[in-house]
Amino acid sequence: MSAHRPDALVAGGGLAGAAAAAWLARGGLKVKLLERDLHPQHRICGEFLSWEAQAALADLGVDLARLGAVPIRNVRLVAGARVVTAPLGFTGQSLTRHRLDAALLETAAHAGVEVQRGCQVRSLEPDGTLATSFGPMRSAVTVVATGKHALRGAFRTHEGTLDHQLGFKNYFRLQPAMREALADHVEIILFEGGYAGLQLVERQMANLCLLVSAARYRAAGGRFEALLASLCAETPHLAARLAGAVPLLDRPLAISRVPYGFLWKPGPDAPPLRLPVGDQATVIPSFTGDGMGLALHGARLAATAILDGTGAPAYAAALARDAGPAVGRATLMQKLVGEAPARQAQLVALARLAPGLLTLSARLTRLRPAAVEAASGVGARGRARFA
Ligand SMILES: Cc1cc2nc3c(=O)[nH]c(=O)nc-3n(C[C@H](O)[C@H](O)[C@H](O)COP(=O)(O)OP(=O)(O)OC[C@H]3O[C@@H](n4cnc5c(N)ncnc54)[C@H](O)[C@@H]3O)c2cc1C
Repeated sequence: MSAHRPDALVAGGGLAGAAAAAWLARGGLKVKLLERDLHPQHRICGEFLSWEAQAALADLGVDLARLGAVPIRNVRLVAGARVVTAPLGFTGQSLTRHRLDAALLETAAHAGVEVQRGCQVRSLEPDGTLATSFGPMRSAVTVVATGKHALRGAFRTHEGTLDHQLGFKNYFRLQPAMREALADHVEIILFEGGYAGLQLVERQMANLCLLVSAARYRAAGGRFEALLASLCAETPHLAARLAGAVPLLDRPLAISRVPYGFLWKPGPDAPPLRLPVGDQATVIPSFTGDGMGLALHGARLAATAILDGTGAPAYAAALARDAGPAVGRATLMQKLVGEAPARQAQLVALARLAPGLLTLSARLTRLRPAAVEAASGVGARGRARFA
């Protein structure tokens, strides 16, 4: 390996890229991370951190309490005029991605990663070269962590996925009484064509993040404010929460064509040390609130497979074993109740009779605790077989 060339290039410095880079650096590799944005940005995300995500962040030394994360112990499900509340079964945390992603990149830099901000990766070439705005770059290991959308030449496909919804997010300053009522809860509001998540993040802001079918958005004239007004008209709970609330971003963030249900499967000729992580490898429907947990878990599995030399086949098998069931169940659940009001109402009625069902469905659409525990300690095990 040349003195100047990194052992590993990581394309994308969001959650998964920063974590994979940090774990690889801890394992002794010389790592360079390429992030498009010059400065931390807001991201489309409900910002709910499951305990799985928290476990991985703790492993990296990210102190959520110090960053101002707020605890969440309950889930409230809302459909029309029906509302049901249940304990989550664990304490979630809520923190803006603006703050979390910046902290993770700092963690990576402390671990020895060379973080190159303002560098756009344009494509992954067949020979493994990354074409970037800073010129072509190459290394023995390439990790692609560019998030929700495909990078030219990389791994993603939309085949068989649920990709017809649009995502929106804005922060709101709620009225004090509504802030108090929302505290300690993640609220999932189901409506025809989609659902919204509402929860407090640091600095007492409320994050409203929603997914809606393109048809419903068109019916609202293709305007977010009109869509929100129509959702408030049919959901008194949401109308009450947002009464007198002040939006905090000039414009909501928006996203389309997120391929929910995608799980990376390498072909037989896949290069062993060219791996996707995060949303490039697995995309779980958002309402489970565990995309970040999966992204971090996958980053740990990828770093382990790179460091111990088992590479793509072992990583893909571990990903299918750990993430496959949760992604499959969450996608099925989204298909069954995600958009149809009659089924949503039935779900809330059922959950009213047995609130434990909500706790159970949260558990079935997440990683198994044993899988999370087994993956810990990457880097401490070192670069056993990487050469
Ligand atoms: C509507 C919605 C709500 C969600 N809510 C939750 C939730 O509440 N809880 C939860 O756990 N998960 C949630 N998720 C899922 C979660 O946001 C993702 O799983 C997670 O962000 C994946 O992390 P990532 O690092 O793979 O991608 P990202 O976070 O998207 O990071 C990608 C990074 O790569 C950079 N990048 C992109 N392209 C390039 C390029 N060409 N060159 C260089 N850099 C590039 C970006 O700037 C970014 O920093 C939600 C997702 C959606 C869509």
